[in-house]
Amino acid sequence: MALRHILDDNHPVLRIPAQEVKKINSAVQRLIDDMIETMRDAEGVGLAANQVGVSKRILVARAGEDEILELINPLCELAEGEELGIEGCLSVPGKYGQVPRYEKITVSALDREGKPVRLAVKGLAARILLHEMDHLDGVLFTDRAVRMVDPEELKAEEQSDEQTEIPAGKQNKGEQKKRQNDEIKSEEQI
Ligand code: ZN
Repeated sequence: MALRHILDDNHPVLRIPAQEVKKINSAVQRLIDDMIETMRDAEGVGLAANQVGVSKRILVARAGEDEILELINPLCELAEGEELGIEGCLSVPGKYGQVPRYEKITVSALDREGKPVRLAVKGLAARILLHEMDHLDGVLFTDRAVRMVDPEELKAEEQSDEQTEIPAGKQNKGEQKKRQNDEIKSEEQI
C-alpha cells in the first residue's frame, strides 16, 4: 500500500465526472488499498478516487470504528428525509459548511471482487457516502452548502455543547453520544 497525494479543490479533475469502472483488476484493488491508507493517514472518513487524481467511480468510507466500505460504481437507488449537517472535505482544507443531505439512502455498487452489493445507511454514514458520490460527479460540498461555517464558530459551538451536526473537524462529546447510532465517532473531514 502507498499513500497518495490528495488534490485540493483547485484541481480540475475534481470537477470532472469520474468514469465508470469497466474492469476490476489488481490495479483497481491496489488503488482501493492506497485510498484506504491515504484516508486513514489524513484522518478522513471518506475518500473518492478523483481526490487522489484517478478519475474512476470508486470511493472508500468509514462506516464504523473498524468497518470500511469500498464501493465501485456506486449508485444511490433510494433516498428519503433530509437533514442539515456540517461538513468538511480533505480537498477543501480548513473550510466547513452546513449541507442538506438525505437522511437515509440505499446504495448499490460493486465490491472489490466485482460482486454486486446493496446497502442501506442513514445519518452520518449516508452523509459520507453522498458527499463521496458527489465527488464522483464533480460536485463539492461547497456547491451545496447553504451556509459556510467559520471554524471559530465550530469551536464556540463545541464549547457551548450545542453543535447540531457532525464532525468536520470538531465533533463534541454530546454530539457523539447523540449520534452513537451512526457508529462513527470521528473528528475528521470527509
Ligand atoms: Zn470531500
